[in-house]
Amino acid sequence: MARFRTLDDIGDVKGKRILVRVDLNVPMEDGKVSDLTRIERVAPTILELSGKEAKVILLAHFGRPKDGPNPALSLEPIARAASDVFGRQVAFVGDCIGEKARGAIFSLNPGDVLLLENTRFYKGEEKNDPEFAKQLAADGDIYVNDAFSAAHRAHASTEGLAHLLPAYAGRTMQAELEALEKGLGNPAKPVVAIVGGAKVSTKIDLLMNLVKKVDALVIGGGMANTFLAARGVDVGKSLCEHDLAATAKQIMIEAAGAGCAIILPSDAVIAREFKAGAANEIVSVDAVPADAMILDVGPNTIGTINGWIDRAETLVWNGPLGAFEIDPFDKATVAAAKHAASRTKAGKLVSVAGGGDTVAALNHAGVADDFTYVSTAGGAFLEWMEGKELPGVEVLKLK
Ligand code: ADP
Ligand code: MG
Repeated sequence: MARFRTLDDIGDVKGKRILVRVDLNVPMEDGKVSDLTRIERVAPTILELSGKEAKVILLAHFGRPKDGPNPALSLEPIARAASDVFGRQVAFVGDCIGEKARGAIFSLNPGDVLLLENTRFYKGEEKNDPEFAKQLAADGDIYVNDAFSAAHRAHASTEGLAHLLPAYAGRTMQAELEALEKGLGNPAKPVVAIVGGAKVSTKIDLLMNLVKKVDALVIGGGMANTFLAARGVDVGKSLCEHDLAATAKQIMIEAAGAGCAIILPSDAVIAREFKAGAANEIVSVDAVPADAMILDVGPNTIGTINGWIDRAETLVWNGPLGAFEIDPFDKATVAAAKHAASRTKAGKLVSVAGGGDTVAALNHAGVADDFTYVSTAGGAFLEWMEGKELPGVEVLKLK
């Protein structure tokens, strides 16, 4: 991996104005932040810079404002939540450029933290307009990006600014990039990927990229049905994208060409209804009744998957193996997650996972903390798994 600048390279920041791009796009309920994870994740960078007596100026977006300022999408309530999390006051100013922002920045003392209003209140943000980026840059001496989850977008505050000021990766961005490098960039081999979830259609690029990079690809979840059907298996009423049979075959051909083993389920847990506690049974995948649907992979398949986890030095995981939200169709996902976690704890495996539902599934299994790294970055994580360059990361690399 090309090296990138981190806070270790930043030098003396005392009294300097540092524009720090963070992800504060947190879930809100009744005007209150309902999950503090994203705020907690950026705390190390902010406290480090503040501790070194920089003037810390936070840039962030919130939601998707359509036409200019929208009070419902103000970052003000998040400044209050951030003050609690950081254990020091986070001031707020209701603009991110211009006189008002400049005034607030001018009155900062070394070590102070200030949150600027939602960058997306200006159209120039998402357009990565150079004029808007210049206005942002005018209020800072240094730029730090700690928002990996926004790095797949080339916006003024995630990409444009890095061309205008000395640019560094924050601690959270650094941790994410280092973990991802261990996952697919320069992994210990053999590398095994587990991909599950609902549909092939949302993960074609991801599957195509993985078969070129990993030694074995385990396919589970609803998307395995599409692969099984492409091989002529009757999957009954299971979730299945029959129109993607050709794509599934192509992925299997690419895998064969690249020497990547494809592991499909051999047995399945089936039910007649998609609901918790539905009557269910275990059948071989070639014996799925016409009126039944596959909601999880079966015990034989779990054994096979755990065997691949045992052989792997590196595991990359996106997508649950079954409909884990409803009991008892979480069994395979929980079993494989626990197995990967114990191999990781034993020092035998590097395990990297990500994806909205995958994070939920690993939390449900109670093992998220035991993986080497669990990315909460969503879209940026998936684009990384697709092998795409992330503009917000590219611009931090040393050329
Ligand atoms: P992620 O958000 O981690 O990328 P996805 O969104 O692709 O994962 O997929 C998660 C969804 O896939 C879950 O809601 C889960 O219920 C569903 N799923 C997994 N296996 C099946 C199955 N056999 N039938 C129907 N849905 C499934
Ligand atoms: Mg999802």
